[in-house]
Amino acid sequence: MSLETFRAETRSWLEANCPASMRTPMAADEYPGGGRRARYKNSETKDWMALCASKGFTAPTWPTEYGGAGLNVDEAQILRQEMARIKARPPLVGMGLSMIGPALVEFGTDAQKSEHLPKIASGEIWWCQGYSEPGSGSDLASLQTRAVSDGDDYVINGQKVWTSGADKADWIFCLVRTDPSAPKHNGITFILFDMDQAGVTVKPIKLISGLSPFCETFFEDARALKKNVVGRVNEGWTVAKRLLQYERTMIGGGDGGSTRPKIADIAKSYLGESKGKLADIALRQEITQHAMDDRAFGLTVRRTSEESKSTKAPSFVSSMFKLYGTEQNMKRSELLLKAMGSQMLGWEGAGFDAEELDSTRAWLRTKANSIEGGTSEVQLNIIAKRVLSLPD
Ligand SMILES: Cc1cc2nc3c(=O)[nH]c(=O)nc-3n(C[C@H](O)[C@H](O)[C@H](O)COP(=O)(O)OP(=O)(O)OC[C@H]3O[C@@H](n4cnc5c(N)ncnc54)[C@H](O)[C@@H]3O)c2cc1C
Repeated sequence: MSLETFRAETRSWLEANCPASMRTPMAADEYPGGGRRARYKNSETKDWMALCASKGFTAPTWPTEYGGAGLNVDEAQILRQEMARIKARPPLVGMGLSMIGPALVEFGTDAQKSEHLPKIASGEIWWCQGYSEPGSGSDLASLQTRAVSDGDDYVINGQKVWTSGADKADWIFCLVRTDPSAPKHNGITFILFDMDQAGVTVKPIKLISGLSPFCETFFEDARALKKNVVGRVNEGWTVAKRLLQYERTMIGGGDGGSTRPKIADIAKSYLGESKGKLADIALRQEITQHAMDDRAFGLTVRRTSEESKSTKAPSFVSSMFKLYGTEQNMKRSELLLKAMGSQMLGWEGAGFDAEELDSTRAWLRTKANSIEGGTSEVQLNIIAKRVLSLPD
């Protein structure tokens, strides 16, 4: 099918099937992540996910046998553009789709792919990431959670921290130490297991906002089947690093800002217009520069994904995307703050509408962008060493 035909068909499918309520911005506390314990604010969110899943549009580039639509890079881009055109909400987001899914496509056995990928694409299973531990964040390879062989299982003891969504997750992808005598990068295994078992305890960490986006996660004789080891035993670091590249690519974004409301439009509504342009000239220049940088970034991400079409996997370049994309995202929030002023500093009360209250929370949330998925300093180290080949 030609790209023009694909665009026309996609457009008419979206027009016919995307309800008006799914063409509005998502509230800060809405998260279409699927999962058995998911609580949706309304059934339309769930219906939209199911409808898109039936077309493979929740995981557009995954093979059709695993619940995807089997789209190539260009078709997937068109789908994103067409969804952005009508302001359609993403039908499904989360670590299943953007992190463990792609890692399984690359490293999983056929049995693991058949078992896990369709349940991710359909939104049945919500995943969380068991990487960080107290004392093992940037120095992730120093992790201490121990897994000991016991028949068909591994028995797991230890603690993870900052486990996003662990209190809602059905399964975890987890890094465990299987050979404590090996050098730290070598004795690590990447394993999947069910969170719904007696050996797993989750304690949500309550933030000042009252929300608990992440948790402490404790394992006391938790069990994981050996068939759920991804890659080789003691060689999980290879899978772990690749998954971080998928994560960093996802956090960096890089759609050229095409899927979000334009800052200029929002600024105009708060600060007024002069001859169709934002009245505040200084802010107009800053916003224009940001829009140009967004566009250049989007094109760079696109060029890189074109170049890696043969491998389909990200590389250490993902650290550049993560660093720059999060810088852009944080700048975006600061520009919105300049435009909206004190209307973006509300926490509750009648003086603010729902979108303004969401903007406040979204602005505060961006503060974590330079930490999550590996800090900006760590990305700079990776770029220096792995991309630019600078000496240690
Ligand atoms: C919103 C959010 C969600 C998260 N979700 C998850 C999750 O789901 N699962 C999970 O496993 N983890 C998660 N994390 C944890 C995240 O991966 C870690 O916070 C991150 O890797 C940093 O580790 P740390 O917090 O231990 O900081 P540390 O490693 O203690 O770093 C402290 C400071 O020292 C700097 N630093 C450390 N080493 C170096 C170095 N070699 N060179 C230069 N500077 C250095 C860092 O940049 C940082 O500024 C999440 C974090 C956030 C903020």
